[in-house]
Amino acid sequence: MSICYLNGNFVELSKASISPLDRGFLFGDSVYEVLAAYEKNLFRLDDHMERLKKNLQSLSINIALENSEIKSILQKVCEKNSEKNQIIYLQISRGAEAIRNHIPIKETQPTIFICSFELKNVPSEKNDPITAVLNPDIRWKKSSIKSNSLLANVLYKMHANDEGYDELLMSDDGFLTEGAVSNLFCVKEKKIFTPPLESNILPGVTRKVIIEIIKDINLSCEEVKIDEEFLFNSDELWITNTTKGILPVIKVNNKKIGNGAKGEIYRLVMKAFLRKIEDSII
Ligand code: PLP
Repeated sequence: MSICYLNGNFVELSKASISPLDRGFLFGDSVYEVLAAYEKNLFRLDDHMERLKKNLQSLSINIALENSEIKSILQKVCEKNSEKNQIIYLQISRGAEAIRNHIPIKETQPTIFICSFELKNVPSEKNDPITAVLNPDIRWKKSSIKSNSLLANVLYKMHANDEGYDELLMSDDGFLTEGAVSNLFCVKEKKIFTPPLESNILPGVTRKVIIEIIKDINLSCEEVKIDEEFLFNSDELWITNTTKGILPVIKVNNKKIGNGAKGEIYRLVMKAFLRKIEDSII
């Protein structure tokens, strides 16, 4: 049995329902957050809340709950579900209205939904490396918003899956942006590079943690534009996100990256990342 939160109530997931006229369903007029909870401790909760607040502001969605109330509900969802490690989805749409209209009504109450699933593949040094395929970035120019309008990302993931790849990386005008569900990092001669936030990417919470870690362990991380040639000549490539942590990418378009195995810088950063997770557990 899975317990979720919907508009003020904790209910069994199978019994939760929303209106078909919800603007999230009709227009993708909604934002979301994905959080990992390790041994029931929400990882980097404040960073997720900060991003959520910015996203809600950028769409002018006003919710009646304070930050502290959302945090407390997230914690309750986590406690009410039995899995030790969880992945928690917080979805907020502009709400449901009686008549379908692109222009929203100011008074509409947002729909707030939080659910939890078991986090099966907890980050570990034993995680297998992955492969990726490179495609042009066809998304809109506001990909920094964690919006539920994820059609491009869904099509990308379907394409990668059909072609036998794990992730799809995007490039815009020859410069890498991010993965369909991840941010990316390249390593060249022991220096680490990642596309800047200005390159129409999601400001990933994991990306932020990894940049902190790189500085903590006295390595260099530059937020710079990365072209495709640089990518294929990199010694290492990683993707990062909340559900997977950090994963090494050993092949892109069937071409080996570096020596086609987990790199030494990856191992160092991964160790430090696992320590951060350990430190978050109380
Ligand atoms: N970029 C995209 C397009 C994503 O969908 C995600 C996560 O799902 C990320 C980056 C990584 O963000 P985070 O580290 O906050 O999970």
